[in-house]
Formats: sequence, structure tokens, C-alpha cells
Amino acid sequence: MSSDVVVIGGGIAGLATASELLRMGASVTVLERNRCGKEASWAGAGILSPLLPWDYSDSVTQLTQFSNRLFPQFIEGLRTKTGIDPEYQASGMLVLSDFPAEPQEETRGESEDELDPAVEAWCIRRGFPMKRVRSHEIAPMLARDEAALWLPEVCQVRNPRLLQALVKDVEGSGGVIVEHAEVTSWKIERGRVQSISTSRGEEYSAANFIVTAGAWSRQLLGQHALKLNIWPVRGQILLFKAQAGLLGTIVLQGQDNFYLIPRRDGHILAGSTIEEAGFDHRPSATARNALLARAHTLVPVLTEELLAGHWAGLRPGSPHNIPIIDRHPDISNLYLNSGHYRYGVTMAPGSARLVSNMILNKVQPLDIAPYRWPV
Ligand SMILES: Cc1cc2nc3c(=O)[nH]c(=O)nc-3n(C[C@H](O)[C@H](O)[C@H](O)COP(=O)(O)OP(=O)(O)OC[C@H]3O[C@@H](n4cnc5c(N)ncnc54)[C@H](O)[C@@H]3O)c2cc1C
Repeated sequence: MSSDVVVIGGGIAGLATASELLRMGASVTVLERNRCGKEASWAGAGILSPLLPWDYSDSVTQLTQFSNRLFPQFIEGLRTKTGIDPEYQASGMLVLSDFPAEPQEETRGESEDELDPAVEAWCIRRGFPMKRVRSHEIAPMLARDEAALWLPEVCQVRNPRLLQALVKDVEGSGGVIVEHAEVTSWKIERGRVQSISTSRGEEYSAANFIVTAGAWSRQLLGQHALKLNIWPVRGQILLFKAQAGLLGTIVLQGQDNFYLIPRRDGHILAGSTIEEAGFDHRPSATARNALLARAHTLVPVLTEELLAGHWAGLRPGSPHNIPIIDRHPDISNLYLNSGHYRYGVTMAPGSARLVSNMILNKVQPLDIAPYRWPV
């Protein structure tokens, strides 16, 4: 079987890339080991921003901001073409606790309106709206009323719906998706991938190949990974079924990045852990109890009775959360779009655009040097 591009891995990175390439006129085949969109991309929380954005390098910021600009059109296109609503919305994010340090009781008043100068400078430079508030102004159901930062333009999306929409869009746009097809070997000659083989015994050839295999990317590439550093980082999430409208915004505890995310129908996600557990993506009782206690402390009504789900996923970890979006240094028709670590959903449309531009020789909208394949 042959097409212009074979995409290996049907998570958000692979499906968004396939969708973008199809939009640009290429023929695309996606090969997925299990079923599309059931690994990290399904497990993720769907916040479309780094959690404390000012803590990240410019390489992360320029890609997330570029992606954020593409999101409205990306979602509108999917909604129109597929009829599936990924529930993209600007629910804002309230950052609690020690950021900036909560003012002492006696100093409350004047200082409450002052922002940390470094954070404020970052936000102004980056055009990132923020405001100092009391937490109960935005989220009255929180147990404590405390100093907080309000980031009103942070958006969220409902991952499973976004993935369903992408699968339908790729197929509806003429792309081929082959599930239960694990890529198991490479035939590489004269500096080019000639073909790849799958666990189904099929061979695929193409002008170009893109690896979007998330936490498994380095494993899949084997010796061709060179110095690529992508590894699995387990994250666990709890799901509560509460009354719709109980919580109107994402709430983040700045110290250790614990968050609550309300969906439109009343579901609330509580997450997430960051664990080095190899490729084991089973949820654990320890994490469940820790997340439950955190959620309960923050919003006392979130008790065990409302617990409706608990899952884990493997993020494609990368140094400083900087993904690799590049052509292989020695294999001229092999590309990688992976290693988005904590922000693969946020970065999806932007990364898809960059790797597609690379393959189709289009001008890039930003400096792509930070995303080079390490050698
Ligand atoms: C708990 C948690 C919370 C998160 N929260 C957020 C958030 O709020 N915002 C955000 O932006 N990001 C978040 N993330 C991160 C985000 O989910 C990931 O960065 C993103 O999903 C990675 O997408 P991917 O397509 O690279 O990987 P995956 O979704 O894991 O997809 C990779 C696919 O490749 C397939 N594959 C692997 N090997 C092969 C092979 N040999 N052949 C064929 N197919 C193969 C796999 O089966 C899989 O389907 C979170 C992640 C977790 C786990």
C-alpha cells in the first residue's frame, strides 16, 4: 500500500497531523497499534495552556501561543465537517495558593491588587490577560477564600470528543486509518525509509513517514532514535459526576499543579499525578486516595460518592517539555512530531502545522530551531 505520507500513531499528534496534511492536499494513511485516541490523548485533561505559563521557556510559549491562535478555526472546522462538538470553551483558570505569596492578614488591601512584577511583566510581554482576585469572586464553592490569580482566557476541550471528531474528519477527508496495526520494522536503504511492516503482516511504502507514537516513539525508532529523549510519564485523573454549574472555571493549586476542571454537563476532573512508572499505565489506589483527598479539601462537596471514574495515561515526556518536530538528521523522508509531554493537546494544531509545512516545503510561521532532533 502506498500514499504520500504514512503517519505512525493515532493519538492527537498523529490525527491532527493527518488532518492538516489532508487539508493541504496530501494523501495520508494512519497506522495505529490499538485503537485511535485511546492512550495519552484520551487520558489527558484538556487544558489548553501550560499550567503556570511563565515557568516555561520561550520555545514552549511560542508553540503553545501559536497553537492557541489556531484552535478556534481548528475546532470550528471539525465541528462543521463532523457534527461532533469537542466542547472547546474559554472557562478561564484560577491559580490559587502561594502564587504570588498570599498576603498576610494585616497587609491585605493595598497589596492584594499588586501582581508579582516578574509574572506581570511576562504577561504583558506575551499578551496574556491576568488579574489578581479573591478566589471566591470567581469560584465561591471553594473551601477557602484566598488571594488568587485569574487567567480569564485559558481554554479547555473535552479530549474524547476532540479525538472522535478528528478520526471522523480524517476518514471523511479521504485519509485511511488502519487500527490494530503495530509498526514493527523499518526497511531503510540509501538514507530513505523504503517501507515499514506491521503486526498484520502488511507492508507500507510512502514518500514520507511521520512518527507520532507518543511515549513509544523512541522504542519504535530503535537505533534510528539517535539521541532522542522521550520517555513515559504516568499521569492519573479522577472523574466526579457533580451538578452542572457547581464549578465554573478551572482551578489550579500553583504549588504542585493539582487542578480541577469542570465540563459542561457537571463532570469534574481532578488531576494529575506525575510518575515515573515505565510503560505501566494502570491506575493505583495510592494515587486515587491522594487525588480524592486533594479534591475534597479544595471543594468539600466532592466526596467519594460522586466519584465516577479513575484512569491513567502515559505522557510522552521530554526535557523541559520541548517536543521534537523535525526531519531525521540522516533519513531524508522520516519525520517526528512527538515529546509534547504535559501539553500535547494544547500544542496539537501548531505542531501539526509545523511538521506539515516541513514536508510540503512551506514557509514556517515561527522559529523551528528549538524543536530539532537531537544528535
Ligand atoms: C493525566 C494526563 C493529563 C494531561 N493533561 C493535559 C492537558 O490538560 N493539556 C494538554 O495539552 N495535554 C495534557 N496531557 C498531555 C497530552 O495528553 C499528551 O501530551 C498527548 O496526548 C500526547 O499525544 P500523542 O499523540 O503524542 O500520544 P498518544 O495519545 O499516546 O498517542 C500515541 C499513539 O501511538 C500509538 N503507537 C505507539 N507505538 C506504535 C506502533 N509501533 N505502531 C503503531 N502505533 C503505535 C499508540 O497506541 C497511541 O495511540 C495530559 C496527559 C495525561 C496523561
